[in-house]
Amino acid sequence: MKKKLLLLFLLISALLLTVTGCSSDGLKLTREERAALKQEAETYLDDLTRFKESQMAHAAGTSEAGSESDSAAADIDSADGEYADSTDPTGAANGTGASDTAEDSNSASDVTGDASADASPHHASAPSLDLRFGSALTPEGTNVVISIFASDETYRWDFENETDVATRAQTLEALSVACEWLEETLATYDCEATYVYDWSEDSSLLYEATFEDVDLTSADAYVTANNYIWVYIDNRVETLESLAERYEADNVIYILYYNTPASFEQSSNTRNYYEGMSFPYEFVNIYAQAYGIYECPAAYAHEILHTYGAPDLYAAYEDNYDISEEYVAYCAQVHANEIMYNVYDVDTGEPRYDKVSNIMEDVTAYYIGIAEAPEEVEAWGLAESQHEEADTSWNIKVAVKTADDAADGD
Ligand SMILES: [Zn+2]
Repeated sequence: MKKKLLLLFLLISALLLTVTGCSSDGLKLTREERAALKQEAETYLDDLTRFKESQMAHAAGTSEAGSESDSAAADIDSADGEYADSTDPTGAANGTGASDTAEDSNSASDVTGDASADASPHHASAPSLDLRFGSALTPEGTNVVISIFASDETYRWDFENETDVATRAQTLEALSVACEWLEETLATYDCEATYVYDWSEDSSLLYEATFEDVDLTSADAYVTANNYIWVYIDNRVETLESLAERYEADNVIYILYYNTPASFEQSSNTRNYYEGMSFPYEFVNIYAQAYGIYECPAAYAHEILHTYGAPDLYAAYEDNYDISEEYVAYCAQVHANEIMYNVYDVDTGEPRYDKVSNIMEDVTAYYIGIAEAPEEVEAWGLAESQHEEADTSWNIKVAVKTADDAADGD
């Protein structure tokens, strides 16, 4: 019954996708922009069909594509010999474990073989993950970070190319610095968080994905891109259920890395939970380079904090927790080195790669669900933390939204 409701919701949302609460860096949407995006979302089903067709054609038609992917994975294999040598033909869609990694992310077998599972949020019922606010709740416990190196029609990874291999290594280093900082910083709030992210030790945390015929890094295609990414995760990445079981995961965070050049002009951003989201997967888009610099570890930590509900403190925009221009000005004075306000060195204004020099303060701790509200929340009329909301499950919310949508015909 629940499954049917979820399916019904998905169908309706595919047609009437309402974009609510799109808080993400670099994408401060106005009402008009959201209406335009809603329009765009109506082509979601078409896109989905196109996506599947192109993936199938890509996989079946050009065996070189498959071997490219294989050789990239093999390249990792030979790099340090610790990677699983997987030839598992069942694919990652069933999420059976460590061997389902990048190698088969492009294989024909799991695209065609898993057609019946199209776009179904059938992975949403993971028993031991609390999905009330998506795949990441509060940082407490074990946080599994899935790294996905994404190629699209504009930017591609080629791991036979030394530069790309070096860039990939740099992302792991940045992620490592970020996770270490998160663990230490969260501990000061009595929050015991551990991050499982190191794909050089556990290759099942690493995926390579090729999205044909779509520009994932274009702000214009934001909603469409989100849907492509969700569908990819839902079909190709190990299930939440399996991750919860294998790692005793409390949270799962997906990071997509794009091989963008220094001239790229968009900030890394996060698709965090919003009410009515059609899949529970919360993901971060990391642009390897933008505005002339490589993305720094503090930015990784900043984006990961968004997945638990942390708001940006550096800008007032719609659906950003009722944060006003005045409060932003206050933050400039009082929280100048707060990681949700600033990801650069507070003294030099430059990015740091050796450490995170920013700090986390009570306001962020409150919004990620590990501290009481500091006085400033009420004083500045900020929105309540999502973690204070009524205890309704993600699934129930989805079902209720379906009924409402059906009733008012919106
Ligand atoms: Zn942000």
